[in-house]
Amino acid sequence: MDMEVNEERGTTHELLIKKHIEYVVNHGNDKNDFEYTMTEFLRMSGIYWGTTCLDIMGQLDKLDKKSIIEFIKKCQCGSSGGISACDGHDPHLLYTLSAIQILCTYDALHEIDIQAVGKYVQSLQQPDGSFFGDKWGEIDTRFSFCAAAILALTNQIHLIDVKKATEFVLSCANADGGFGSKPYAESHAGLIYCCVGFLSITHNLHRLEREKLAWWLCERQLKSGGLNGRPEKLPDVCYSWWVLASLTILGRLHWISSEKLKEFILLCQDADTGGFSARPGNMPDIFHTLFGVGALSLLGYQNLKKINPTFCMPEEIVQKLYQVQILES
Ligand SMILES: [Zn+2]
Repeated sequence: MDMEVNEERGTTHELLIKKHIEYVVNHGNDKNDFEYTMTEFLRMSGIYWGTTCLDIMGQLDKLDKKSIIEFIKKCQCGSSGGISACDGHDPHLLYTLSAIQILCTYDALHEIDIQAVGKYVQSLQQPDGSFFGDKWGEIDTRFSFCAAAILALTNQIHLIDVKKATEFVLSCANADGGFGSKPYAESHAGLIYCCVGFLSITHNLHRLEREKLAWWLCERQLKSGGLNGRPEKLPDVCYSWWVLASLTILGRLHWISSEKLKEFILLCQDADTGGFSARPGNMPDIFHTLFGVGALSLLGYQNLKKINPTFCMPEEIVQKLYQVQILES
């Protein structure tokens, strides 16, 4: 399954960097905006997508650091230590990671209780090594990645049983070389990114089937140049990030056509409003905007800061905090 790429829609082959800066800065400026109200449940991740995207474009100072840090402080739960998407919501590993990533970007980890964050993550590890996402007890390899990433960025990885956590992640590998959300669950590019990222953080990449997995990942590229997340699905800009970041970590980025992918991603820009959409002609959103810009950075696009494939944050920030494992090509 693929899509026709219509070149006649007045699209451009240039990255519209000024437009994207405008798009990210204006996102959420109007607090009465329908979209802003509807996305309260992922506000923290929205701020992470926006700050990271601007930083990669060299424009982080366009957002108000002070009010963002104040917002994060209000979202840390006084009893569990976890961080929520928005003031008054329940904490969750997903939003705790987003908050930690934002604080790292602003060099402001000291602004919250980092030890309490560490204890929160520790409390969610299960006897089989897996992680709950929050107190409600859902298990998913995404949460293994979040836990390892939070603790790596805050220098507290010793708080969890890394060996058991690694065994759990490896138990989610499938015969096709990919990974799912739990043992025997279908392979999916987003979850592969989480598992490969987890193994990159814990320096266990030698334990996966590199060539088989890289083959599955490069088969995600379609004629349009775009990448899908599973066989028989449409291409989508966010999969450009998940597949590409995984291939980069595995040292196999050269197994796909960078030029064709670049073309596809640039066709997903909205030339009027700025921002990227999932595929050409759709409505742009902040999530696909980060992953579009991030994928272009991985592909070496000019005028963008280098992005770290494991953490999806500027390389210069990650370098100061943690050394990930990346395989040689
Ligand atoms: Zn998508």
